[in-house]
Amino acid sequence: MSAERIAVIGLGRMGWHMAAHLSAAGHTMSVCDVVPGVAQKWSDENGGTAHTDAARAVVDCSIVITSLPADRELFAVADAILPVLASGALWVDHSTTSAEGARQVHARAADRGVSFLDAPVSGGVDGARNGTLTVMAGGDQPAFDRAESILGAYAARITLMGSSGAGQITKMTNQICVVGLCQALAEGLDFAETAGLDVSKVIHVMLQGSSASWQMANRAEKMLAGEYNYGFSTTLMRKDVGLVLDEAKSMNIPLPVTTMVGQMLADVSAMGGDTWDWCSLMERQRDSH
Ligand code: NAD
Repeated sequence: MSAERIAVIGLGRMGWHMAAHLSAAGHTMSVCDVVPGVAQKWSDENGGTAHTDAARAVVDCSIVITSLPADRELFAVADAILPVLASGALWVDHSTTSAEGARQVHARAADRGVSFLDAPVSGGVDGARNGTLTVMAGGDQPAFDRAESILGAYAARITLMGSSGAGQITKMTNQICVVGLCQALAEGLDFAETAGLDVSKVIHVMLQGSSASWQMANRAEKMLAGEYNYGFSTTLMRKDVGLVLDEAKSMNIPLPVTTMVGQMLADVSAMGGDTWDWCSLMERQRDSH
């Protein structure tokens, strides 16, 4: 893999680590975050140049990586960087956004001769820190081929799912499959606890049976302990559920469980849990009786 000049825009919980892995892989880094001081702090620790202005950050960069909160920020960055990005550049967006938003940016980028991949991730902050993220990409094969070795700095699995937007649709599918599961886990743990069982023992047994899941292996003990000060926030999961429900509505597909858990996550927010990991559904479950 040859060293590239790479801009990373959005140095939050995910982007910070992605940029650090790219720097460690030998790339020349230009980093940007709108929050004053964040990019400079990253640069003090990892090298490269620091910016608060995305348009300046991408000057002379052949690759741009973004990790932004949502559609609004993606569009703001598109407005800023597309006029200045060189034709032939590659832009990989790891934000979780709407599929339609990704397709719009893909089309605008193509007009400028820039390749765009929607490439949302799963694996959480730990996956970003450890360089073991799963990337689900949408876009064109040549752009994907070019991105693959670069993303390998922080991703263990990188898959092209289809044309533009397919990465976001895959991520939405992942969220549909996990939201009901986490609520079911909260209900089961609450049930066992209220019945007076040794719940750690119950978890240990269940992990060897048919109800075992990543959530159970990685979150059940924390839910039991009421520890939520880490991970994927209730706010971010509510955003993802909103994206899912909008997309499902456009296809006329009812998603009753996802809709119900979306409301339960709103309850968690109302309890003050916006920044808690979203497995704090457990807290709502305990409060319900
Ligand atoms: P975050 O809010 O911690 O980071 C986003 C960063 O983008 C912030 O530092 C913010 O200041 C910066 N930003 C916003 N607008 C900007 C702009 N115009 N120019 C430059 N910087 C800008 O979010 P995160 O947890 O790192 O998540 C990033 C994306 O990854 C989200 O779309 C999220 O849904 C997705 N995601 C997060 C996780 C997770 O566990 N945190 C897991 C999977 C996917």
